[in-house]
Amino acid sequence: MESTQKSGSGSGRVTEPDATVPVAGARFLEGRTALVTGAASGIGRSCARVFAAAGATVYVVDRTGEAAKSVAEEIGGSAYVVDLADPDRVDTLPVDADIVINNAGLQHIAPIHEFPPERFALIQRVMVEAPFRILRRTLPHMYAQRWGRIVNISSVHGLRASAYKSAYVAAKHALEGLSKVAALEGAPHGVTSNCVNPGYVRTPLVEQQIATQARAHGVPPDEVIEKVMLERSALKRLIEPAEVAQAALWLCSPHTGYLTGASLPLDGGWTAG
Ligand code: NAD
Repeated sequence: MESTQKSGSGSGRVTEPDATVPVAGARFLEGRTALVTGAASGIGRSCARVFAAAGATVYVVDRTGEAAKSVAEEIGGSAYVVDLADPDRVDTLPVDADIVINNAGLQHIAPIHEFPPERFALIQRVMVEAPFRILRRTLPHMYAQRWGRIVNISSVHGLRASAYKSAYVAAKHALEGLSKVAALEGAPHGVTSNCVNPGYVRTPLVEQQIATQARAHGVPPDEVIEKVMLERSALKRLIEPAEVAQAALWLCSPHTGYLTGASLPLDGGWTAG
């Protein structure tokens, strides 16, 4: 099996592997290291699992210690218990990742005139500054080996706005910009950078929102999903974390070396409308 093994060479032409080789189920990331932020839950945990299944050694980064350790143990990776809101702690993360999945994120819902400024700043630190700091420290390693993959877990809210989500929408749009700049700078060094842009994903966070709204409006959970959350989506179902993780993995496969600076909408047709 052809794979994306490290060349070990610090210079020379970027060589991509044979894209004709089928990769489904293959351990094409054997020998690679993937750093995944927010890997203790939801989409990040799914990414950690599918990247490990594809052969990568995974750095499980999260502020939630017990959950991060349990994921790391399950997949044979290493846990890094770090609060990404603390820039000094972010700068202690390993610099030798071949793949970076910028995934950790949080939400706060309030109209702009009532939005707490410290909450706004926190969201930018975790969702924009931390990805920037992680990239500035890992890119030299990727450049030296002439191969690297950056996957930024953005959102449909990196492409579209929703009311009451000013900090989140601003942060996701900023992440889109960072991803495109990384794509331009990384191209001569064999490094690609892309975003994936899910609509509503079935994670504990969203399940909780569904239950709360169902109680508040006195309607069944299915109706909240269909009429409130998925109003703008053509596909009337939530996307599963594993589907997002598989898209992230595909962006790191031998078939996608020419795909960079892109944003892949996994939004059930939301942005098509
Ligand atoms: P989640 O809440 O299930 O998981 C997020 C993880 O990030 C948690 O383990 C949490 O501990 C970690 N985290 C948060 N703040 C952190 C910090 N300061 N330091 C370290 N770790 C921190 O969320 P999820 O739904 O899996 O979301 C993951 C990403 O996907 C986020 O960037 C989110 O914006 C994006 N996204 C989610 C959805 C959705 O519907 N769930 C849709 C589109 C995009």
